Amino acid sequence: MGNQDCIFCKIAAGDIPCSKVFENDSVIAFLDISPLSEGHTLVIPKAHFEQFDHCPSELLADIAVCTGKIASAVVLGLQCEGYNVLCNNGAAAGQEVNHVHFHVIPRDSGDAVFTQWPAKQYSDGQAEMVLNKILKNL
Ligand code: AMP
Ligand code: ZN
Repeated sequence: MGNQDCIFCKIAAGDIPCSKVFENDSVIAFLDISPLSEGHTLVIPKAHFEQFDHCPSELLADIAVCTGKIASAVVLGLQCEGYNVLCNNGAAAGQEVNHVHFHVIPRDSGDAVFTQWPAKQYSDGQAEMVLNKILKNL
């Protein structure tokens, strides 16, 4: 179940210390060691899965429920205006630790945590082509 080279497996096993926010049988949450904002929390399954789409459905459901509870506590505790839930999958998407994790990032207006959202537009017919590529694989 655990991966001996994985830092988050070591945290889940209690072999590396963390600032623990929450724990149940399958999920553990702890403060990010390099926070983007105060209260930045990571929610992980205790079992080692690399990416979001590798996790079994029941585990994803458990993580989602836990993440919601934790986000509420973070918002109330830190009195922030909002939060992001973020899951980076793959190096290209910024994943540095290859054990799936959800960032809960407290946000306030003007905090400049994410300064870029490079939105684009589809040209005529392009959205249908893109849609077909996805639908063929569902
Ligand atoms: P990602 O880029 O999505 O893989 O994010 C990995 C996150 O794990 C980063 O925000 C790191 O600051 C955080 N991190 C790495 N090692 C630890 C650790 N020992 N305790 C808490 N957070 C960590
Ligand atoms: Zn792991």
